[in-house]
Amino acid sequence: MTPLHLDPLESEGNQASTEAEDAPEICCQYCRSPLRTKWADLGAQPLANDYMPSRAAARAEPTYPLHARFCDNCFLVQVDRVVPPETIFGDYPYFSSNSASWLDHCERYAAKMIERFSLGSNDLVVEIASNDGYLLQYFMRSGVPVLGIEPAANVALAAIKAGIPTEVLFFGEQTARQLVAGGLAADHLSAKNVLAHVPDIGDFARGVATILKPEAVFTVEFPHLLRTIEGLQFDQIYHEHFSYLSLLAVSRILSDQGLRVFDVEQLETHGGSLRVYACHDGAHHETTSSVQDMLDAERAAQLDRPEGYHGFEARMQQVRGEFLAFLEHAHQTGKVVAGYGAAAKGNTFLNYCGLAAASLPFIVDRSPAKVGRFMPGSGVKILDVQAIDEVQPDYLLVLSWNLRQEIMSQMASISDWGGKFVTAIPYLQIF
Ligand SMILES: [Zn+2]
Repeated sequence: MTPLHLDPLESEGNQASTEAEDAPEICCQYCRSPLRTKWADLGAQPLANDYMPSRAAARAEPTYPLHARFCDNCFLVQVDRVVPPETIFGDYPYFSSNSASWLDHCERYAAKMIERFSLGSNDLVVEIASNDGYLLQYFMRSGVPVLGIEPAANVALAAIKAGIPTEVLFFGEQTARQLVAGGLAADHLSAKNVLAHVPDIGDFARGVATILKPEAVFTVEFPHLLRTIEGLQFDQIYHEHFSYLSLLAVSRILSDQGLRVFDVEQLETHGGSLRVYACHDGAHHETTSSVQDMLDAERAAQLDRPEGYHGFEARMQQVRGEFLAFLEHAHQTGKVVAGYGAAAKGNTFLNYCGLAAASLPFIVDRSPAKVGRFMPGSGVKILDVQAIDEVQPDYLLVLSWNLRQEIMSQMASISDWGGKFVTAIPYLQIF
C-alpha cells in the first residue's frame, strides 16, 4: 500500500483566502480599479509551464500565490500579478501541431474564413502567436499569403523552417505600428488562445486596431469564462494566464479602441471557448443577434457582478476531496494510477491537490519537448505514451480532460488489461 504524499506547502497555501485588512490594494490590470471580489484561491503554486530536467529541481521550483479576482468596473477576471515578468516569458514548450483534434479545428477555421470573407491571393492573413505555423499552413495551402507573429524563438524557428513567414516579435501597439510602416497591414487577423496570456490587454487591443485594414476582420478565440465557471474548470487558472474572459469584458476592451464585435460563436475547444469576430466600428460587417444573446447569457449568469463569482472555491475544494479519496482508495487496493497530458492545467490541478511524485508514478505526453522532464511542483516524471503499454496502469487519469474523446480513442488499448480512464473535473468520473 502506497500512502498518499501530500505537499505540506500546499495546505499552507490553501489557507490564504483571507487577507489582512491593511494589505495593499490590488488593482485591475486593465482599468486600474481596485479588485474587491475574490474568485478562486489556488494556494502557492510554481509556474505551470516550467517543466524541469530533474525531480529535485521540479520540487524546488519557487512558488507564488495563485489567486484570481473579478473587476466590478470592467468585468475582467484576472490573477494577481505576483510573478516577476521576466520569469514568465522564456522558451515555450508547447508546439501546437502536437494535437490532432486542434489541427482539425484549425483546418476548418481556415476554410470557413476563406469562404466567408472571400480571402484570396491579394489578401494578407496575420496570426498573433502563430506558434509553429499550425494554423497558417492551411491558409498558405489555399494560396492566401500569411504572416505569423510569434514571440517564442524556438517555436517560430519551426514555422520558418516549414516555410511559413514569421516575425519573432511580441505583439502590441508598437509592433503593429512597425509592421504597418513596413507595408504589412492585415486583411484578416487571428488570435487563438493568446489573449489570456497577454500581459497588457489594452496594448494588445491598440495593436489590433492599428494593424487591421479598414474592412478587415479580427477573430479571437479564448476559453469562455462562463464555461469555466459552469464546468468548474479551475485548472484553467495559472500564473501565465493573466485573464479569464467573458464577452462582456472583451467587447468593452475592443470597443475602447474603436472596434466593434459583430459576431460570436461558441466552440468546444479548451472545454468551451468563444470565437469573437470584430472589425473597425465603421466597417460594413453587420452585427448578428448572437452578440446580444451572449451578452444576455453572461448577465443572466451574473458575470457582471460579484455574485456570479461566489461559491466557486467551495466547489473546487469538493473536487479535490473527491479526487484524493479516489487516489487513496486506489493505492490501498494496490492499483496503479498514471496520468495523461502534461499540460499547464495538469500542473495546476496536481499542485492544488498537493500531490507529490510518489502518488502518481508518471504522466505521459505526446510532446517530445516535455518527455523526460518533470512536472513543476509535484515532480511527477513525464514519459512517452508507450510507457502506458509497458506499465499497464489500472487507471489513466486524463489531465487534459478537454481532449478526453481524442485521448480515449488513442488509448483504447488500456481496456485489454482492464484499465479505466478517470477524469476529476467537474466531478470524479471513471470510464
Ligand atoms: Zn477593470
